[in-house]
Amino acid sequence: MQLHERDERRVAAEAVLGDLAAAGVVGVVLPWVDTSGIARMKAVPLAQLPSAAQWGVGMSPVFDGFLVDDSIIAGTHAGSVIGDLRLHPDLSRLTVLAAQEGWAWAPVDRYTQDGVPHVQCSRSLLRRLVDELAADGLSVQAAFEVEWALGQTADAFVPALSGPAYGLTRQIEVSDYARDLLAALDAQGVAVHQLHPEYAAGQLEVSVAAEDPVAAADTALLVRATITAVSIAHGLRASFSPKVTADDVGNGGHVHLSLWRGSENLMSGGSGTFGLTADGGAFVAGLLHHLPGLLAVGAPSVASYLRLVPSHWAGAYAVWGLENREAAVRFVTGPSGSRQAAANVEVKCVDAAANPYLLLAGLLAAGSAGVRAGTALPDPVGIDPATLSEAARRDAGIAALPTSLGEAVAAFERDDVLTAAFGPELATTIAEVRRGEIALFDGKSAEDVTAAVRWRY
Ligand code: GLU
Ligand code: MG
Repeated sequence: MQLHERDERRVAAEAVLGDLAAAGVVGVVLPWVDTSGIARMKAVPLAQLPSAAQWGVGMSPVFDGFLVDDSIIAGTHAGSVIGDLRLHPDLSRLTVLAAQEGWAWAPVDRYTQDGVPHVQCSRSLLRRLVDELAADGLSVQAAFEVEWALGQTADAFVPALSGPAYGLTRQIEVSDYARDLLAALDAQGVAVHQLHPEYAAGQLEVSVAAEDPVAAADTALLVRATITAVSIAHGLRASFSPKVTADDVGNGGHVHLSLWRGSENLMSGGSGTFGLTADGGAFVAGLLHHLPGLLAVGAPSVASYLRLVPSHWAGAYAVWGLENREAAVRFVTGPSGSRQAAANVEVKCVDAAANPYLLLAGLLAAGSAGVRAGTALPDPVGIDPATLSEAARRDAGIAALPTSLGEAVAAFERDDVLTAAFGPELATTIAEVRRGEIALFDGKSAEDVTAAVRWRY
């Protein structure tokens, strides 16, 4: 960041102070998501926003080495208490928070004091990968689905609603809550597509419109913060944990992706399977090929593997299929007539413990590696693989995804495409943070693990 850019950032912040003050804003939240998937923050009073925009807000690099329980690893490139990073708010995403009166919010990029993007900043990494794709004339549209379990304030999970899965009763039970949530999201400019009660006890879901990947990850962070705020305002508590209780279906954090060249959706209108173009198919093939390693960022918690089991709609097999909700990659064409705009893939095996920036960075790296290599797509799978015998799955080339965080980390470390995209420092930190969490929960029962992380994500 050059000095003149610092000045421009200050001027841009000064220009919005009046509007923010008129909206009653007193403080600005500056959030980022750490390696373990926890959203953390600093805040500045409104008058400090220009200074924060120009010079950033100080933050120790120690946070790169934080685990889900706030313990800290002594990592090769993370966990040191020495040094200072600068949190620079991205004012293009400045949002007045509708469910936290007096507060605004702007996600940050993390820089060194010398104005260079921090090598372990997941948001900067994602922007770099988006730019690399753009240099090839390509872009991605992405959206996260957000599932959460709504509970009473007790530490044990006591569902805040009791009606049947997808039940009309559930919406009636949380009518005021859901209205307040939709209103807050709308006021914040989030384009909600749907809200519905999900399968598990107390579970709800919001899905939103697709956007540029950095914006989609910002939106995921904002949607979750808004759900948390509205839940607290209603005397309730939201859990985004991959597994809220040991014996129920978990929370997914499915990611929808489409690949575009200009205004052409490469997931539609081609001569490949289900209308895929050659590049669209190769992108999906790249995703599939790298899924085992991707789980180290997409299913990053020990609890993720309690969720990622067959026949739970979580996508536990490394296959793709048309509208197959047991495939890790579900291909979605949309209704006839809408396909050019609507066709996309949904990556289902990932959950909301993931840092959304890291996850999208991994997905972009995997998909674009497929495009560059012209990777061929395997045959789609049109059944629930769990209904086949193990031998039949083997014959059909259907492999299970990693069943533990340790397996996923090993696959990640073997995956040269992913580790090269993340760079040696961040790739090493990711593996070390995951190993730290594996050690943290070593020998613990599913009940202990779910209880320990239930209210962390
Ligand atoms: N809750 C399921 C999961 O863990 C997903 C349900 C759905 O298909 O939306 O991913
Ligand atoms: Mg769902």
